[in-house]
Amino acid sequence: MHDNCLFCKIISGEIPARKVHEDDDFLAFHDINPAAPVHVLLIPKRHVTSLQDIVAEDAGWLGRMMALVPKLALDSGCRPGPDGGFRLITNAGRDGGQEVGHLHFHILGGERPWTGLG
Ligand code: 5GP
Ligand code: ZN
Repeated sequence: MHDNCLFCKIISGEIPARKVHEDDDFLAFHDINPAAPVHVLLIPKRHVTSLQDIVAEDAGWLGRMMALVPKLALDSGCRPGPDGGFRLITNAGRDGGQEVGHLHFHILGGERPWTGLG
């Protein structure tokens, strides 16, 4: 738990969220302000500020986080196959457009038209 971190408060249950997946290491929930028909946020339970802080030793859990994405996309309503799919975004730092300082993957999908983030 990192002081005054919104997503740490969602992990602890202090702030509610519409969860789509939870295990020992990760949590996924619907974005409160969706930018596409499907817009899910996937976060690690450990507090990491952004991809700017990742080092080689993080490859194991980060790889497991990445491997969750296609399953969560399908479970959340993204369509399968080449006509379906999803977009994966992570914003890092102010210049990257990051607003919440806890590493998160945006999983965006659903039938177009939608423009994604920004
Ligand atoms: P960032 O700009 O940091 O990459 O994205 C932060 C995302 O968190 C935004 O898409 C925003 O809508 C979402 N968000 C902000 N506050 C909350 C909240 O309290 N609950 C949920 N579910 N999403 C939030
Ligand atoms: Zn946090």
